[in-house]
Amino acid sequence: MSVINFEFRNEVLKHNASLSYCYQCSTCSGGCPVALLTNGKYNPRKIIEEAILGLKDKLVEKQEPNSWLCSTCQKCVELCPQKVELTEIFTLIKNLCFEKSKVPDGFIAQGQAVLENGVAIPYSKAILTRREKLGLPTIKTAPVDEIKKILIETNFEKHLPKESA
Ligand code: SF4
Ligand code: SF4
Repeated sequence: MSVINFEFRNEVLKHNASLSYCYQCSTCSGGCPVALLTNGKYNPRKIIEEAILGLKDKLVEKQEPNSWLCSTCQKCVELCPQKVELTEIFTLIKNLCFEKSKVPDGFIAQGQAVLENGVAIPYSKAILTRREKLGLPTIKTAPVDEIKKILIETNFEKHLPKESA
């Protein structure tokens, strides 16, 4: 049985007060491409409902629904008649999941790539060579040292699994 966690609800509200505007109309879920692809298994309205009810165990521990499935396409944000900032709320939930190392492997790999290269999807040598042959401009790379400092300061590195940290 899920337990209402008022502290969690207040944390979400403090992060983004638009949570309180939701009147559960389901417009977000109706327009969500991921909800469509998963036959409703992924359901943004449900995530918002569980946040309103303070069901942290469902959203963070069990990940029902799984916020990581959101592609951040922003369609729900555009459609919501109440201007609920769903993806901002999902970001907080994902950050809380991350603190508990409840992160899909693919996101960990991207995080590791950012830590090492300053970008989530590094360019392969083959692509760089091909670009050079085609006379395309050199791709500017991000200042990895500065990015690393931020990631270490924000405890990002600490939460990565031991084998990838
Ligand atoms: S569209 Fe907006 S108001 Fe309607 S359920 Fe989704 S978040 Fe709530
Ligand atoms: S931002 Fe996420 S929840 Fe919203 S419509 Fe896109 S995939 Fe669905």
